Amino acid sequence: MHILVVEDEPKMAALIKRVLVAERHVVDVAPDGVTAIGLAESGPHDVIVLDRMLPDIDGVTILRLLRAKGLATPVLMLTALGDVDDRVAGLDAGADDYLGKPFAFSELLARVRALGRRPAPTQESRLAAGDITLDELRHVAAVGERTVDLSAREFALLGFLIRHANQVVTRQQILDQVWGAEPDVYSNVVDLYISYLRRKLGEVGRADRLRTVRGVGYSLKTED
Ligand code: CA
Repeated sequence: MHILVVEDEPKMAALIKRVLVAERHVVDVAPDGVTAIGLAESGPHDVIVLDRMLPDIDGVTILRLLRAKGLATPVLMLTALGDVDDRVAGLDAGADDYLGKPFAFSELLARVRALGRRPAPTQESRLAAGDITLDELRHVAAVGERTVDLSAREFALLGFLIRHANQVVTRQQILDQVWGAEPDVYSNVVDLYISYLRRKLGEVGRADRLRTVRGVGYSLKTED
């Protein structure tokens, strides 16, 4: 794999590079944030190993910037061990995984391998059921060329339905997957959001695709 390592401590950077190269990876090293952004934008990397603490721009800011520009490369963030706030900030900014310093190089290698195995997010981010499409990376829903303006919850709901297109999903399944562990959610919230979604799909002539299966739940059809 082609890996970008962003690390300002020369010894640490050299060590990480050595273990990655020993596993036949091709490694670019950036000692600071400005170099990191330049390299990340210019080269296609399979994985980025990003130190949280850098002399110029901190890792979280770099990551936010790269994600805002649409870069979907998996990122393993290196943080101070046990710093929960650091980890949360990293994950919020779009990190795919984190590793606390100091770490065992075997663990670094394992995590890099795991991130490299993930399907390319650009491919994974597009979902479709017939001509209804969702681009999860850009948060755009569309029917053919016409975009459909959805709230975050409607978007998540449509994503779930597309993943299970032509199957019947129950209210409970939708609740579990789209609302998760949120407390105080009533089961009729599903019916409510289904009606919102159906109305918006109706604006582009696709209301009939979202069927109610009486006594069971709902089904999104790929064709009329
Ligand atoms: Ca550092």
